[in-house]
Amino acid sequence: MAFLEYAAAPESASILNLKAQYGLFIDGEFVDGHGDVFDTISPATEEVIASIAQATAGDVDVAVAAARRAYDRVWSRMSGSDRGKYLFRIARLVQERARELAVAESLDNGKPIRETRDVDVPLVAAWFFYYAGWADKLEHAGLGPNPRALGVAAQVIPWNFPLLMLAWKIAPALAAGNTVVIKPAETTSLTAMLFAEILQQADLPAGVVNIVTGPGATGQALVTHDDVNKVAFTGSTNVGRMIARQVAGTQKRLTLELGGKAANIVFDDAPMDQAIEGIVNGIFFNQGHVCCAGSRLLVQENVHDEVIDRLKARLSTLRMGDPLDKNTDIGAINSAAQLERIRTLSDTGESEGAERWTADCRIPEKGFWFAPTIFTKVSAAHAIAREEIFGPVLSVLTFRTPAEAIAKANNTPYGLSAGIWTEKGSRMLALVDQLRAGVVWANTFNRFDPASPFGGYKESGYGREGGRHGLAAYLEASGWDAPASLSAASTTPSDGGRAARKPAKTRKAVAK
Ligand code: NAD
Repeated sequence: MAFLEYAAAPESASILNLKAQYGLFIDGEFVDGHGDVFDTISPATEEVIASIAQATAGDVDVAVAAARRAYDRVWSRMSGSDRGKYLFRIARLVQERARELAVAESLDNGKPIRETRDVDVPLVAAWFFYYAGWADKLEHAGLGPNPRALGVAAQVIPWNFPLLMLAWKIAPALAAGNTVVIKPAETTSLTAMLFAEILQQADLPAGVVNIVTGPGATGQALVTHDDVNKVAFTGSTNVGRMIARQVAGTQKRLTLELGGKAANIVFDDAPMDQAIEGIVNGIFFNQGHVCCAGSRLLVQENVHDEVIDRLKARLSTLRMGDPLDKNTDIGAINSAAQLERIRTLSDTGESEGAERWTADCRIPEKGFWFAPTIFTKVSAAHAIAREEIFGPVLSVLTFRTPAEAIAKANNTPYGLSAGIWTEKGSRMLALVDQLRAGVVWANTFNRFDPASPFGGYKESGYGREGGRHGLAAYLEASGWDAPASLSAASTTPSDGGRAARKPAKTRKAVAK
């Protein structure tokens, strides 16, 4: 079959007005850090975009002190409706600068502009709009009569959805009345710096949000800081485990959003056209750098060959290349280190006996690229069926009965998400009950909404982001028995410290 050639349709980067060097954002100002600087590069071209400050433990200390001051003097005394106005303002400014943010994110992360433009940035705005609406309604969130902010939140995020993860963290924290120090991932700090400009445009009081850039050591200094009341981490299970150990025995509340190895289960009665698109979206969206990616395809044995043939045909039409080109489906892998990890795990898959198929994509000369890949004849014991590859690699297993599908789907240390494809509603409902996954999609995949809680079981972490549950992670509730999924996320909330005492004033201020 002949395909029409697409003419290149690159989004212009001329909308960007980037600085050559970015400092830290502390107490409402850009300031120089006291550490080294490092380059943030475009993973598609390996060209340097800007240099970024590496915050030292001392810089983190200054940022936490700023957040504490802002909490004590301003944010905890402000009415919920006024906090909500700031969140609305931020959401509107994100919308106004949407094109610029989308271009910057694609440039710095390597993901296609189609995704940053249509998914990441609209969801960032949606998250701020949604939590703006909650800021003056905390008493009605079902969390008890007098939910109180925790104090200063230390937040650490990964590189796969840089601005979106920032929004998931900051919006509920501010709505609930906390102040924030956040650390973006070292390879993707750029949009956090643009977001800092938005905070200045929004006139957000100084110190309410502070942004410290740098490597893991900066994150460690932040989460172990004595004067933070809450730690919210999104990243790998290994680092999450380390943070859980460090936070254990302190009064800090903790939520962890970690890795995943989701099963995407396709029954023989599935709406097949939709299912093929859903499988592609499940694992090749964002180059597979998605914690909830449908990286294990469980397909009913009698439709295995049909599904694989159709999948290969579909993958052969995907276009890999310039992330800023509006035709691009598959962008660049975020870093050389991540590319190496994907290659190593894929080679292991082959050496363990799985059968590898790779789409015939033109690989650009510069940058970090990995063509969409499918492994068939995968067994549950193979590393590629157990470990998170975090790349555009799909492992295919088969099943005969629903019971076998459930057993295989749950045969993982993770429990973040799952997908089911079938025409039968009763089967969907029966399966959802038995899948050990925080999110289960039916006849769709990778759908996100700010009103819908997101989070995992087992080694995928604990606590929920999004919806009312996402608020609960930033509030100390009184007279309310938190569901296990929320309370397990926390060390003892009654800190007896500043966070618990100060918000009483907030209530009075709100009542005035
Ligand atoms: P990572 O754990 O290496 O890094 C995440 C963040 O933690 C980065 O900002 C990093 O600098 C920081 N960090 C590293 N060491 C630290 C330490 N000792 N103390 C404090 N902070 C530290 O993960 P990554 O490679 O950036 O991200 C990929 C992982 O994130 C994947 O496993 C993915 O599944 C997971 N993820 C999960 C979700 C979710 O919601 N569950 C969402 C996105 C990504």
